Amino acid sequence: MGVETRSKAAVKKPAAHPNTWVFFDGEFARYNDVKLGLMTHALHYGTAVFEGIRAYWNPKQSQLFLLEPAAHYERMRRSANVMRMQLPFSTEELVNFTLDLLRRNEFKSDVYVRPLLYTSSEEIGVRLHNLDRNFFIYAIPFGKYVEVEAGIRCMVSSWRRVPDEALPARAKITGSYAQAALAKSEAVEGGFDEAIVLSMDGHVSEGSAENLFMLKDGVFVTPPVTDDILEGVTRQLLMKVIRDELNLEVLERSIDRTELYTCDELLLCGTGAQISPVIEVDRRPVGDGKVGEFTQELQNIYFNAVRGDTPKYKDWTIPVY
Ligand code: PMP
Repeated sequence: MGVETRSKAAVKKPAAHPNTWVFFDGEFARYNDVKLGLMTHALHYGTAVFEGIRAYWNPKQSQLFLLEPAAHYERMRRSANVMRMQLPFSTEELVNFTLDLLRRNEFKSDVYVRPLLYTSSEEIGVRLHNLDRNFFIYAIPFGKYVEVEAGIRCMVSSWRRVPDEALPARAKITGSYAQAALAKSEAVEGGFDEAIVLSMDGHVSEGSAENLFMLKDGVFVTPPVTDDILEGVTRQLLMKVIRDELNLEVLERSIDRTELYTCDELLLCGTGAQISPVIEVDRRPVGDGKVGEFTQELQNIYFNAVRGDTPKYKDWTIPVY
């Protein structure tokens, strides 16, 4: 008692509307008509890879924009390869199924899309070989995942990021999100908004589900892909915007923990988190403790681009309708 904070009723309730269309095992079906067996391998052993993709509703254009779906499916293909799995469709097919799914659901709000490739065999036995796989995509209306306006307060987690030698962070494997969950709950239950996680060798890796950038002496710095980060799609987009629009240098180099306390600006970024300014780390203000000027500018550029309002960044998105 005392540890479990959700009631039984809350746990049972499906997050998605029962009539929501999903793409399951090569066909469109209703959320409630899909059944997964209790023995499903991935549920027990974390043997699945997944993605998180956003679509942004633009009320002025009455249009929904799907953000960088091909980049996400390409990463998913690489994650699958690490896990001895194979995506059953080409990237083009996957993007088209996703567009179809969004149209069928007639979404007119911001949406989160979740594709999952999982080990579907209903049998006991930890392994990757000689097992069946299945693939699905569902989508739900989705607002903010973390605060993006006022700035967030972070703690450096007591949990370390899973090292490449043990569970590769560059592959988006469901099992490794148990580590992210440990870090996130420790932070939130300790009164913070988000966790910043260090690699096993003590360098800053990333947030629980976000990449990290700091601004120090006029240069943006982000941990290199060899510091046990997920190679983020948003991270890639921001590097380009920082160089092209802010005309600032971006360095990929290892970051020490105390640089979080001594930098001028700090932000977390990701599909879910979008661009989230960090205003405090371990109860120390970042810069002057307010949302950073360059972070604010990056946010403005990003939010306009993802909603399909910036002609220059049209290639980031695909209009759904
Ligand atoms: N790191 C982790 C651990 C994540 O889960 C995510 C979210 N997918 C990110 C970084 C950010 O990646 P992306 O920008 O591709 O969403």
